[in-house]
Amino acid sequence: MHSVSATIPFVDLSAQHQPIQDQIEQAIRGVMQRGDYILGQALAEFEQAFAAACRSQHGIGVACGTDAIALGLQACGIGEGDEVILPANTFVATLIGVLRAGATPVLVDCDAKTALIDLVAAEKAITPKTRAIVPVHLYGQMVSPTLLRNLANTYGLLIFEDAAQAHLAEREGYRAGSIGVAAAFSFYPAKNLGALGDGGMVVTNDETVAQKMRSLRNYGASRKYFHADYGTNSRLDTIQAAVLNVKLPYLTEWNLDRSQIAEQYNTRLKPLYAQGILPIQNQCGKGHVYHLYVIRARVENQDGSAACALDRETLQEKLAHQDIQTGIHYPIPCHLQPAFKNLGYRAGDFPISETLCQEILSLPMYPGLSDPQIHRIIDVLEASLTAHSALKISA
Ligand SMILES: *Cc1c(COP(=O)(O)O)cnc(C)c1O
Repeated sequence: MHSVSATIPFVDLSAQHQPIQDQIEQAIRGVMQRGDYILGQALAEFEQAFAAACRSQHGIGVACGTDAIALGLQACGIGEGDEVILPANTFVATLIGVLRAGATPVLVDCDAKTALIDLVAAEKAITPKTRAIVPVHLYGQMVSPTLLRNLANTYGLLIFEDAAQAHLAEREGYRAGSIGVAAAFSFYPAKNLGALGDGGMVVTNDETVAQKMRSLRNYGASRKYFHADYGTNSRLDTIQAAVLNVKLPYLTEWNLDRSQIAEQYNTRLKPLYAQGILPIQNQCGKGHVYHLYVIRARVENQDGSAACALDRETLQEKLAHQDIQTGIHYPIPCHLQPAFKNLGYRAGDFPISETLCQEILSLPMYPGLSDPQIHRIIDVLEASLTAHSALKISA
């Protein structure tokens, strides 16, 4: 048992890996015995198993989640001249994927309560050139499948999900990865399902998209040394797939652990609402898989709710001072990143995303985070706010 006063890391994969270490080593040895390191048996097994878990027919393993977005969009026939709508409030990989597919990204703002793409703003951004929408199931919460499908059907758009943070998430009877034409997943080590290195996958029910994906990730070869497509080399390593095969059966249990941790946080945080600490709202119910648990330290109070006495940076420092590690997902919205200046966006274009980026703080979240640890995190948070108010009164 870890002592409650020890450092609480932001993510700790050891609790996940320790009990299955022998199984993992055995799986890796199995690949070495067969020697099928590229496009081997364990990859085919994992592609089938993961696609089935997503209630999808085909899975195509690639080198990382970013490639899954870039090649996945390409496999769906999206590219030059096509506008693709995506949220400004996401990890830059979503934007990089759209750009690498050759399409024109059209960013839109997010919803203040959920931090997910604002579908009203998305509808307003549709033009005759819009071909697709890339909803991001941010923090493990799905964007409403019903609303997405209504929008896509009305305007004849393709839905391509960025499900990199939402393995096995559910909403309105749908699983993440099964709403649209195809979806991208990442198996970066800290994701809900992570490899021991980089990895990604596209899942789809469309046979043609699946075939195109198999070609694109393998130099564009439909058969050996025959190149019909301009592809690349982006295959999920057989060794990583073997590791993921061992981990996949535990995913439901790990996700459940995450939602129980989130419930603990929710309960303990309620008394702090009045002090301007608000969790990102869950409108997804039990299907939220809590890749991250994110709170906001409110800087404004236009809706009459309290502003937080401490800004996000100060809160983060206070927690760090008590050996509690936190994260910020993400501190700068995509449209304000220097790398994408040429897209022509400016500060003020997406005010909700911009405010959120200043307010949000991700608390430790991983299977194995204990109740005493959660209590300590909230206690320190509470004490920091109280100490600050006391100082203000006495000054
Ligand atoms: C992690 C992530 C990606 C990229 O995945 P990689 O495997 O790191 O390339 C894309 N989109 C989102 C929302 C992510 O969180």
